[in-house]
Amino acid sequence: MADTINADNMLAMLQAAIATIRENEEMLSNLDAATGDGDHGAAMAMAVGAADKAITEWDKASIKSLLHGVGWGMMCIDGGSTGPLWGSLFVGMSKGAGEADTLDSAALATAFETGLEKLQKQSKAVVGDKTMMDALIPAVGAIRTAADASASVNDAMAAAATAAADGAAATTDMVAKFGRARNLGDRVLGHVDPGATSMSLLFKAFSEAL
Ligand SMILES: [Mg+2]
Repeated sequence: MADTINADNMLAMLQAAIATIRENEEMLSNLDAATGDGDHGAAMAMAVGAADKAITEWDKASIKSLLHGVGWGMMCIDGGSTGPLWGSLFVGMSKGAGEADTLDSAALATAFETGLEKLQKQSKAVVGDKTMMDALIPAVGAIRTAADASASVNDAMAAAATAAADGAAATTDMVAKFGRARNLGDRVLGHVDPGATSMSLLFKAFSEAL
């Protein structure tokens, strides 16, 4: 059980997330095709492509510089809201990570909370709106709850992965308040939200990488 993670651990987490999103590109686009324009897999592939490029250009100085590079890379991709939203999460996380060489579960909770705050400057979505927030907000809360109970980083991230998966699954029964799906009203019932699904894949990959 790791009590802390370092920059190499964060790198492994990010690389696992990139691989997982790429493996699921077609599935994510198929989910989006049911309630939107079917581009979510492609948008996520572009976002993780930018993250991958940022990783190759990383100065290996710190967790902060790694997350900052990934976030800025994602923010700068063309088209749609996916890049700016995911980018702001990681840029915010870099700020939350600060200058620390290692993060314990409490510091990791702070990093994710700071990322969520930055994302919430771009998106007003809350739990129940059938967006990425339905996975992200419970996942960040689970990390803090675990940290408050002095859990290891592994256990905190495992709790986050479970909370994100449950949150994403719950979007199946929600009507959308944002995006194109908003115009479909009750017709989105029975369809899981693609953005929440991507976010749950991120936490699953992060947890499995540890
Ligand atoms: Mg779309």
